[in-house]
Amino acid sequence: MSETALKDRKDAMSVTELKQQLVDCIRMLEQSDIIDYNGHASIRLGDNRILINIGSCQRSKLTTADICTIDLEGNVIEGNGKPPLEFHLHAGIYRARVDVKAVVHAHPKWSTFLTMVGESYRPVYAQGSLVYPMPVLDSPNSINNPVMAKRLADTLGDRPAAMMKAHGAVTVGKDIVEAFVLANYLEENAYRQYMALQIGKPYSFSEQEVALCREQLWTESLFKRTWDHFRAKLG
Ligand SMILES: [Zn+2]
Repeated sequence: MSETALKDRKDAMSVTELKQQLVDCIRMLEQSDIIDYNGHASIRLGDNRILINIGSCQRSKLTTADICTIDLEGNVIEGNGKPPLEFHLHAGIYRARVDVKAVVHAHPKWSTFLTMVGESYRPVYAQGSLVYPMPVLDSPNSINNPVMAKRLADTLGDRPAAMMKAHGAVTVGKDIVEAFVLANYLEENAYRQYMALQIGKPYSFSEQEVALCREQLWTESLFKRTWDHFRAKLG
């Protein structure tokens, strides 16, 4: 086999592995009740191409056949089916953030309850502080066009996560493990904050405590441990 053929084969294998990682991510998000029949995640491949689940797929039974490759304009390069209408959300973030290699967008309940009533996201448990402070997009509109995509990317800025008023949340990462784990931390924090609000005023971590959490908990090995915990439940 020629060197070019070997390289092509290696590239093809890594894309296959990335597709499987994306499938696992979406199935874990579905099993955790973070996404339902909507919700999508993507991985940047380079050359302005991204892997993303097709809009009409069954998230709980997802396979690599449900992953398509698109460009940043939403043209399907490879795959059977169309990207979600909100692919603009992914394209807008990849355009604005060269450091981002993966994006998760979902419409999860608990964090959305907070934005529905204008309750700010507060760091109430250690892992949840990794995405604090949390910017909020001041519009419930779908991110289904470049104008809304730019508004969301501007709201996100250089942060790892943002919430969207009465709509959902988005997390980004240097890989899909990071974007998945942050989505999990965000929603778990929102759940704990919401529940604590029912019986009192939840304790909010101080600036120093948030900084300490970030220093100790933002590590590749701890992120992998969280990923592995949910991955094991998929069977
Ligand atoms: Zn959405």
